[in-house]
Amino acid sequence: MTTPTLTQTGEYEWRLDPLPGMRAEAVVFGGREIVSNLEAHALRQLANVASLPGLAGRVCALPDTHSGYGFPIGCVAAMRPGKGVVSAGGVGFDIACGVRTLLTNLSEEDVHPHLPELAELLFAAVPSGTGRGGGFGLSPSALDDVLMNGAAFAVAKGYGAREDLERIEEGGRFEGADPSVVSAEARKRGQDQLGTLGSGNHYLEVQVMDKVFDARLADGFGLFPGQVVVGVHCGSRGLGHQVATDFMARMRAEAPRHGLSLPDPDLACAPLASETALAYLGAMRAAANFALANRQVIAHLVRTVFGGAFRDAGPMPLLWDVSHNLCLPEEHRVGGRSMRLFVHRKGATRALPPGHPALPRHLSRFGQPVPVGGSMGTASYILAGVATSMERSFGSACHGAGRLMSRGQAKKRFKGRALVDSLRGQGVVIRSGSLSGVAEEAPGAYKDIEAVVAATQGAGLAKAVARLRPLACVKG
Ligand code: 5GP
Ligand code: MN
Ligand code: MN
Repeated sequence: MTTPTLTQTGEYEWRLDPLPGMRAEAVVFGGREIVSNLEAHALRQLANVASLPGLAGRVCALPDTHSGYGFPIGCVAAMRPGKGVVSAGGVGFDIACGVRTLLTNLSEEDVHPHLPELAELLFAAVPSGTGRGGGFGLSPSALDDVLMNGAAFAVAKGYGAREDLERIEEGGRFEGADPSVVSAEARKRGQDQLGTLGSGNHYLEVQVMDKVFDARLADGFGLFPGQVVVGVHCGSRGLGHQVATDFMARMRAEAPRHGLSLPDPDLACAPLASETALAYLGAMRAAANFALANRQVIAHLVRTVFGGAFRDAGPMPLLWDVSHNLCLPEEHRVGGRSMRLFVHRKGATRALPPGHPALPRHLSRFGQPVPVGGSMGTASYILAGVATSMERSFGSACHGAGRLMSRGQAKKRFKGRALVDSLRGQGVVIRSGSLSGVAEEAPGAYKDIEAVVAATQGAGLAKAVARLRPLACVKG
């Protein structure tokens, strides 16, 4: 098999040299170091995505890209409604996995002496671990309500405040959800998982803002130096995983009938005009609403813990909640024309620029906050959307540092106990039910977040606002 090659087209932009079958251009954003460490497999996956029918503009790999299932992680692909397809693998298994950030009135000195107990309290309050339930038990009709109404369901039940909803993408509820196409198996898996974190890459992290890059934006976002914030990273749990599994199988089985010959069966997709695509989008939105409700319930549990532990935590407003595994209909300009496209973002975060109509009023002047995870031992970032990303990456930015090593490689290289001890020495408290899970998530298993953010900013995809340093991390 030919090894994919890249041609540099800008300081942080590279074009994938055309490979047989590609129908659209593919671009990789990243500095030289990031690009030279990319796996050939991830680039081949990018070429496969670029071979799908009905693409608008180019397919993008963001600086945190790495191999995934079918599509690479850190990938953006926009489809024309007429000829394009929707791919369940292009959204990923953890539908609407995402990050939200809660702001406290506390500073590092307030929490520092209490970090081990705080981590313990958070760990006890939010069930975590692979396949773990123990959340909110939902009757079938309450589950339908979750699938239709997302975070609005949780707020109506007293989990959080109405103001939270305008600080969540799409007002906390994805339109067009169809619970009737979510399988019985998916419903069963989700039934007791609302308000649970899930496995190792998901986290609840107490962080301190240790550097400001843009004082106007930081202030506009309600951030101040030395402030303690909480990052929540999780998704749609077993329910979303099952929806993805169900539709990948269905799309794969139907591909020949739709005349789709796929370079990789994991690219399974369906023409946007087909019944399967319609059903998938309805089920995907239902699972996405589950994810939004899940993060909303978890945020409430986090606020309860902080309210009990600190007199001055404050109401802990939400900075922003955004999903990084979705396919959404959006308006974009391509070739000078404005059109409605279905934008797949897999391990990629929407990053809307100032003035975008989908932003709530209080953020319109600043652009959308983009929370970016690093690792439990390195920095995380808050970025802001900028105008240039609309034409460069369909208004998308990185979602994390991105893996440098697979989970298997990381488990061989790192030991959970030693990591927990060494991070403790650096002032970070880790609480997890699984030491092998911690090893898979070793900071050394991820790319250099500083290089990923520098490339994201340098390529004009988002702007750095503030850097966060981990204080305590609860891992699934
Ligand atoms: P993913 O959604 O692809 O599983 O993960 C998103 C990103 O979260 C990863 O690329 C990684 O950079 C980041 N991440 C993983 N674990 C942690 C953690 O414990 N703390 C923080 N702050 N970031 C993490
Ligand atoms: Mn996830
Ligand atoms: Mn995620």
